[in-house]
Amino acid sequence: MQFYSLNDPDHRTSFKNAVVSGIAPDKGLYFPERITPLEPDFFENIEALSNHEIAFRAIHQFVHEDIPDHILKEIIANTLDFDFPVFDLEENVATLELFHGPTMAFKDVGARFMANCLGYFSQGEKQEVTVLVATSGDTGGAVANGFLGVEGVHVVILYPSGKVSDIQEKQLTTLGQNIEAMEVDGTFDDCQRMVKTAFLDQEITQHRKLTSANSINVARWLPQLFYFLFAYKQAKSKGKDIVFSVPSGNFGNICAGMVAQKLGMPVKHFVASTNVNDVVPKYMEQGVYEPMPSVATISNAMDVGDPSNFVRIRHLYQDDLDALRENLSSYSFTDSMTRNAMKEVYSNSGYVMDPHGAVGYLGLKAYQKSHPDTFGIFLETAHPVKFLNVVEETLDVQLEIPSQIQKIMGKEKKSMPIRSYAELKTFLLQ
Ligand SMILES: *Cc1c(COP(=O)(O)O)cnc(C)c1O
Repeated sequence: MQFYSLNDPDHRTSFKNAVVSGIAPDKGLYFPERITPLEPDFFENIEALSNHEIAFRAIHQFVHEDIPDHILKEIIANTLDFDFPVFDLEENVATLELFHGPTMAFKDVGARFMANCLGYFSQGEKQEVTVLVATSGDTGGAVANGFLGVEGVHVVILYPSGKVSDIQEKQLTTLGQNIEAMEVDGTFDDCQRMVKTAFLDQEITQHRKLTSANSINVARWLPQLFYFLFAYKQAKSKGKDIVFSVPSGNFGNICAGMVAQKLGMPVKHFVASTNVNDVVPKYMEQGVYEPMPSVATISNAMDVGDPSNFVRIRHLYQDDLDALRENLSSYSFTDSMTRNAMKEVYSNSGYVMDPHGAVGYLGLKAYQKSHPDTFGIFLETAHPVKFLNVVEETLDVQLEIPSQIQKIMGKEKKSMPIRSYAELKTFLLQ
């Protein structure tokens, strides 16, 4: 399987090259040249398959030319050693809990899979790879955890100072070893801009082999399709049309779900739920894609003003907006609507949603208003303790801190404050 650049379908490369370089030389995102549906019996008998078997069969076609089967099985086993429960919340409303991994956000899956692939591809290579990544909160921790101790890989994480939660900051600044945190005096968009500039800066790229661990990287993006299949396996017996609502920021997660659908997974509809950073809901309504500076919200991992993976979704539909609308709806919600949903669900059922999951819940409810006879699953993308202050203050509760979080809260933060691209460049040229 080759991957082509969305800027130029004639530029093709292997999975390995796509992972190691992150983005095509023409700055296009890589996309698989084919998505071949799995055999119908895969979905008919999915209940009989383990999560590891499901993942192996789903991703095999994309990677098998560069990763031998026995290595792929190891990578999958290293990635998926925790649960992905679908929890029934109300009639026809369930949540897919994606926060049972080491950093308690769904990004653990993509980050671990990518770290394992890059570790495998780096074996025997002389030059170290530098993973350069911008984070609005959860990516940094998941990438730091996934790549910790991976030989031949150095990780540099840029995060906006004061704009990530305390727990998120600890997760990305306390590990040490091959992980370096840069605390940027600015917003997430500033961090992302610095990363993009570094990729274009030949002085740096001649000196270091750079790649990205944001969801533009195919090894981080594609494995996210696994848990849509795990959810389908659990919800299939409901016997209803399934709808997924995905709280979205860079739109990598939902796009991976749509790839699972192209693999043949029966899904009726997707809902892309956003906070007030509503570039995509506006596009779906008006047909005009207009990037905006991002606005800070309580669901900070979705504060994205120009979602990088949306081009992949448009491409899946050959840029046919009407066809896309058949399969995707998109809604945006304010912080006060999000807090109200958190309160309502908590008082009705005692279930604690994090602000991102709550946005997903609202999107699902909005869609089900006109499609009540569906089984809806919204993704709980992070554990509520990752957004401790917002959740405790909104629900007037005190959350129990899980042991893996307690452990890092006592550790000392190590970060390098930077104010400008020039400072990042100096560091990368050392
Ligand atoms: C990253 C993140 C999102 C957004 O996911 P995308 O793939 O960027 O759309 C949503 N919720 C949480 C908790 C996240 O960390």
